Amino acid sequence: MQVKVMTNIYHISYTPETKEISLFFWGCNFNCLGCLCKKETHNFLLSEHLHLPFEEPTVIADSPEQFISFEDLIKTLDKLEIKKVLLEGQEASLDPLYPQITQALHKRYSSYNTLCSNIYSLPSLKDTDEIAIGLKAVTDSIHKEYTGKSNRQVLANFISLNQAGLKSSVASVFIPGFIDIAETENIAEFIAQVNKDIPYHILPYFKSGFNPWRHPTHEEMEAAEKTARKHLGKVHSWKGDEEMKYEVVKIF
Ligand code: SF4
Repeated sequence: MQVKVMTNIYHISYTPETKEISLFFWGCNFNCLGCLCKKETHNFLLSEHLHLPFEEPTVIADSPEQFISFEDLIKTLDKLEIKKVLLEGQEASLDPLYPQITQALHKRYSSYNTLCSNIYSLPSLKDTDEIAIGLKAVTDSIHKEYTGKSNRQVLANFISLNQAGLKSSVASVFIPGFIDIAETENIAEFIAQVNKDIPYHILPYFKSGFNPWRHPTHEEMEAAEKTARKHLGKVHSWKGDEEMKYEVVKIF
């Protein structure tokens, strides 16, 4: 009997209109206080989860128990038309099969592969087209408090990735009273020192885990964007109540 090689993928969603697949990997080298996986491990954009971001957390979500094998992943994806793939969830970069999965995605579907990562450790990026970096903080004491780890390796990897010329963007979470205007400006300044052309997305904190922070207001998000624009040309702040453009469905 052939033994199946298991991936770290526990959930797959698909957006039919854009032919976009999201592969959700389990396992992370950080333990972020506000990690959304503490609230829900599956895609927040599924219709049954759209109400969740604004709900008060009452429990910590269970860890996934079911994972897909590499063979079954390919069988599942072969049934779909695929243009873009997001490798997300927790840290896709930690799956030993990451290089094999991205190579198969390129070979079989010629997809545009985007890795969403905290870039604490990096896999082979030979078949990765873009990296969406989740930068928690540039002030190390804030980074340590929020994630449990120093950001030294993260900042060094950010510089190396830019030197390697891999297309990238950065997102950070705006948390009133914690990672707010001052730290958002620090992040924008750091990105600008490396490359002023990198797009920067500012995301609003949604309550997850048991933290004292609240969801930011529209005005706070606009102020954060305005501050970041002093340093960078491509800045966008999300408010968290944007309309969904396309339906997202669960595949696994
Ligand atoms: S890096 Fe991302 S997945 Fe990992 S704990 Fe932090 S928010 Fe969660």
